[in-house]
Amino acid sequence: MLSISILSKLLSLDETIFEENISDIVTEKGYCIFLKVKRKGSFCPDCGNTDSKIKDWQKRILKHSLLYGKDTYIYVKIPRYICKECGKTFEQPCSLFPKYSKISMKTVVDVLKELMEWTSTFESVGKHLRLSNTAVQNIFDKYVNPRRKRLPEILSLDEAYENGEFNEPYMVVLFDFMNGKIVDVIEDRSKYNLSKYFNKVERTERLNVKYVLIDMWEPYVDVASTFFPNASILVDSFHVMQNIYRALQKVRCRIMKRFEDDAKSEQYYLLKKYNYLLTTNPQIGAEKEYNYKFKAYFNEYQLQQKLLEIDPELKIIYNFWANYHHFNKSLNNQNLSETFDMIVMDPTIITVPEFIPVIQMLQTWKEFILRSFTVINERRLSNGPIEGLNSQLKKLMKVANGWANFERFRAKLMFCYNKEFSLTPVKNKIRKLKTKKRGKYQKNRQNQLDSDGN
Ligand SMILES: [Zn+2]
Repeated sequence: MLSISILSKLLSLDETIFEENISDIVTEKGYCIFLKVKRKGSFCPDCGNTDSKIKDWQKRILKHSLLYGKDTYIYVKIPRYICKECGKTFEQPCSLFPKYSKISMKTVVDVLKELMEWTSTFESVGKHLRLSNTAVQNIFDKYVNPRRKRLPEILSLDEAYENGEFNEPYMVVLFDFMNGKIVDVIEDRSKYNLSKYFNKVERTERLNVKYVLIDMWEPYVDVASTFFPNASILVDSFHVMQNIYRALQKVRCRIMKRFEDDAKSEQYYLLKKYNYLLTTNPQIGAEKEYNYKFKAYFNEYQLQQKLLEIDPELKIIYNFWANYHHFNKSLNNQNLSETFDMIVMDPTIITVPEFIPVIQMLQTWKEFILRSFTVINERRLSNGPIEGLNSQLKKLMKVANGWANFERFRAKLMFCYNKEFSLTPVKNKIRKLKTKKRGKYQKNRQNQLDSDGN
């Protein structure tokens, strides 16, 4: 027979809430536990009166995840009272299971913990914990509905490409630079939509925002200057480097095409295999390694020199990259503006067609870029901390089938990233609206009872 102390450990519950006589049995259905909740009296939820008498014992069957590798059911008896004041009948609250639920609290917590993994789906969690997809999904919808957090002093707007999963191609992640948490996720980055979003936020809250980090997307500037009048707007340096990097790769590919017919040529080999040397700074004296293609010992610096000799354009773009890269890292530069101009106005770089838009972009966004050298608490303001998010997002997109609706996707994203949940169920209007229309309260409550089970 199961002892009360073992059971309370298994269910992560205080043992004093149960009567001593617990029994358990293994049947065809699975592992069944029978227990009775101790009477402790309760106040009336309607009138608050503490004077009530016991009416009867409510019997409930709860689904519990696995115990000893078996499907587990808990048969529990709970005291039900009748209020002497108003006559209302009510059940004694019990921490074994959430209100109106047919699933134990411990199971709910297990489900939520597993759903917090980036790659988990309703299906995978259900399979593991022996619950139906719908039951897992219901738990998710009931407990995971992260609200927008208060706008922080340093707000990052970072966009993520949605890969055609939802209606809009780009969603925007609002991020708190200081505490590293996602503030909210917005489905669409259009000016109209962002304005509509920020318009709903209290002005006093918006005035508190001191810095807004953005990508080079014109509407962000409009929106940020309208809604955050006290904020300094700056362009994230990571995105600048990314633009330079992309242009550089385009040039490399264009040059590489010339050697495509001779895929065994040294040029093709270097451009293909050592492309990373166009965006690295190898040491002259670095250690040499045997190279099978050239049948000789070379270090990365020497290979880079060979690579750059293939075409004068490669030298130009490499120098540009190296100069800008160095500039981007120099936080103590007193002459940011002059150094920036010197690099950007270099007459050779605009002879490379792929770099013309990059130079134009750098000139257009100059003041926003220079502001990105701001350091707060010894950290440069950047979207760097969120970039790790992009790879996680891709993982999430891969299993996106289960998150097909954006609201659910947003909830999952914030849940997995911020790792926060509360066991107080939340009403989720948006997700509910998209499903069936509900009837009146009583009916609603019955629906909930029905759908919690399985
Ligand atoms: Zn009452």
